[in-house]
Amino acid sequence: MAEADIALIGLAVMGQNLILNMNDHGFVVCAFNRTVSKVDDFLANEAKGTKVIGAHSLEEMVSKLKKPRRIILLVKAGSAVDDFINKLVRQMFFLTVTSLSLGEVSSERSQLFVSTESLSPDETLIYFLQVPLLETGDIIIDGGNSEYRDTTRRCKELLQKGLLFVGSGVSGGEEGARYGPSLMPGGSKEAWPHIKTIFQSIAAKVGSGEPCCDWVGEEGAGHFVKMVHNGIEYGDMQLICEAYHLMKDVVGMDHDEMSQVFEEWNNTELDSFLIEITANILKFKDKDGKYLLPKIRDSAGQKGTGKWTAISALEYGVPVTLIGEAVFARCLSSLKDERVQASKLLNGPKLTQFSGNKKAFLEDIRKALYASKIISYAQGFMLLRQAAKEFGWTLNYGGIALMWRGGCIIRSVFLGKIKDAFDRNPELQNLLLDDFFKTAVEKCQDSWRHVISTGVQHGIPMPCFTTALSFYDGYRHEVLPANLIQAQRDYFGAHTYELLSKPGVFIHTNWTGHG
Ligand code: NAP
Repeated sequence: MAEADIALIGLAVMGQNLILNMNDHGFVVCAFNRTVSKVDDFLANEAKGTKVIGAHSLEEMVSKLKKPRRIILLVKAGSAVDDFINKLVRQMFFLTVTSLSLGEVSSERSQLFVSTESLSPDETLIYFLQVPLLETGDIIIDGGNSEYRDTTRRCKELLQKGLLFVGSGVSGGEEGARYGPSLMPGGSKEAWPHIKTIFQSIAAKVGSGEPCCDWVGEEGAGHFVKMVHNGIEYGDMQLICEAYHLMKDVVGMDHDEMSQVFEEWNNTELDSFLIEITANILKFKDKDGKYLLPKIRDSAGQKGTGKWTAISALEYGVPVTLIGEAVFARCLSSLKDERVQASKLLNGPKLTQFSGNKKAFLEDIRKALYASKIISYAQGFMLLRQAAKEFGWTLNYGGIALMWRGGCIIRSVFLGKIKDAFDRNPELQNLLLDDFFKTAVEKCQDSWRHVISTGVQHGIPMPCFTTALSFYDGYRHEVLPANLIQAQRDYFGAHTYELLSKPGVFIHTNWTGHG
């Protein structure tokens, strides 16, 4: 009997928690997994006492779904997603027929009758059938961390088969999936009215109950936005690390003191999940009573979405410098053994005891962090704007800020300010041009420059603080030295250059007077 509102394939940590979340909100979910035994385990344990039902095959799962059928995939990104899509689109059957047995395969949409009359006793016919499990208007949703180009491809391929495809960013990890993730759905827009209620019910809520989920845009837009979200997460984390490094090695603070400062910062414009957990991490003590953080190897790994953001930025020519530096900072951190050797050979400035006004300098660091964060988000939205242009997507920028406002790792009060900026001007070209952010950066500017010069004098690496300020200075300069680059290119390669007085006209000069 068709009783389930939605099916979810993939019973790992994200899938199980999202199912329980949907169940809490009154939806009947049918669970399925490649390793089918996990369905029974889940029903007998985590989902015990809920309305969740299970299926032991894709056919059974599909038969239990109300129409249009809605199926969420929460499996490992990559070929696993294509494999499941292919099975849903074309389920294979083998039918063996002998003179003694009449074969019949039937499904709602296709029937095959095989006559055995012409078969001799020793003859066997084997039929290889492809029966689609889904029908026109059914919806497949990929909630994994898929690459946005894969999502665009799947969207197009399934549309040709009359099926609707949604690629949805899901953020917030296990906790988010269970109690309210940030959801970023994009793809075939006709699917949105059929999934909106479920998605917005289970998503995180902010303010007066606004869901952190709205329609993002066409094709792979949902996964592109999730990718940029992850890139921004890299940037936010690195910025906090640079503030921590300055507090530890320039100011010479202990863990409790630093934790206290981050707690205080969490009551300012920096109010965010990452600042909150940093305060907790700093004061966390191991079983031996010593702080845990200094015992952790200073070498950060990555799964790739930050790198994808930086690659997209290069591909589409958008200066998303801060996320790029955050990715490279992780790469540099992972060269631990090489750094240990270099630390014995390469000298920097002598570390001297901090002699300035500690309270004032901490406020300077806070402002440097805030200004750099504004730059990072301005760059992230520049990349979204360029992608929209590149792919012809209509992106809802204010909605995206709201989707990130709660439920996800970069959730912060600050994102509400970004939403306000796009509400004031949906066509806003750059966040830095909004009055609120323009003023905010101006107020931080002196502190930002002071922190960077102090850090540089102390030999502290601050790749994200510094690249943010360089971007700001570059963006606000009417004239940059790129005229010299044009001249150099023309000098050595006759690449031509454009005169300020004649835009669009490219000329070549014989700079040496030879030949
Ligand atoms: P996961 O470890 O990424 O994937 C495990 C699930 O994928 C299992 O159901 C597994 O089935 C299935 N699977 C793996 N390879 C398969 C294949 N070749 N064919 C069919 N099924 C296959 O699980 P997860 O951590 O819950 O994440 C699910 C998705 O959400 C991923 O795309 C992940 O990147 C994304 N995501 C994860 C988080 C997080 O915090 N973990 C946050 C946001 C998004 P079996 O049980 O049969 O092995």
